Amino acid sequence: MRKTTLAILMTLICAATSGCSKSDAKRGNMIFETIVVGELGVNCYILADSETKEGIVIDPGAEPERILSAVKNSGVKVLTVLNTHGHFDHVGGNRRVIEATGGKLMINKEDEPFLLRAASSASMYGLAAENSPSPASYLAEGDIIRFGSHELKVIHIPGHSPGGSCFYLAKDGIIISGDSLFAESIGRTDLPGGSQALLVAAIRSKILTLPEDTKVFPGHGPSTTIGHEKRHNPYLGG
Ligand SMILES: [Zn+2]
Repeated sequence: MRKTTLAILMTLICAATSGCSKSDAKRGNMIFETIVVGELGVNCYILADSETKEGIVIDPGAEPERILSAVKNSGVKVLTVLNTHGHFDHVGGNRRVIEATGGKLMINKEDEPFLLRAASSASMYGLAAENSPSPASYLAEGDIIRFGSHELKVIHIPGHSPGGSCFYLAKDGIIISGDSLFAESIGRTDLPGGSQALLVAAIRSKILTLPEDTKVFPGHGPSTTIGHEKRHNPYLGG
């Protein structure tokens, strides 16, 4: 994609642009893979226990065939498909990934209405996305989702959308932050149901309080750490 086009598209997502990158990592006994998908460069994450191969897919936003081939190559058995929020760029591949893997879709109830608007929302930006099926169940603050020996805690972060979720893996020192927190930026808050005051307050009270060496994996762009964002994120008083 041409750089100018990408810059324009990134302004649809972030309060400030921070670029896009791809990162892969094997962390302890965890399979951790990032696949950057779609025109808006969404980070789709595949997390799995490297022994049992049980895993989850987070935000299969587009290009489901690339996600499915990565799932197949690593032998991951997808138990759950999680959406950090309901915007089209994060949910457009839900249907194909769910159908191919049997994974159960989960999203915060407040973002469920977005699932049926993915195609029309994308078309407003001249893009294409497929509507998502309804979730099998809902995500709520404090929920624990297990795969193999790993567990992930749901943190509700409203502000980019009403039902934004971050996923914290305390033992692995990782948080998947969706479009709430980016490297030196935060998610835009001018979309329906958005609120900068809510977003900043939730990030400050629930995310910046995590250990400073926690690695942050956002919905777009490069990873960062809690400590770096505390000191350098201009939206959070850094
Ligand atoms: Zn996004």
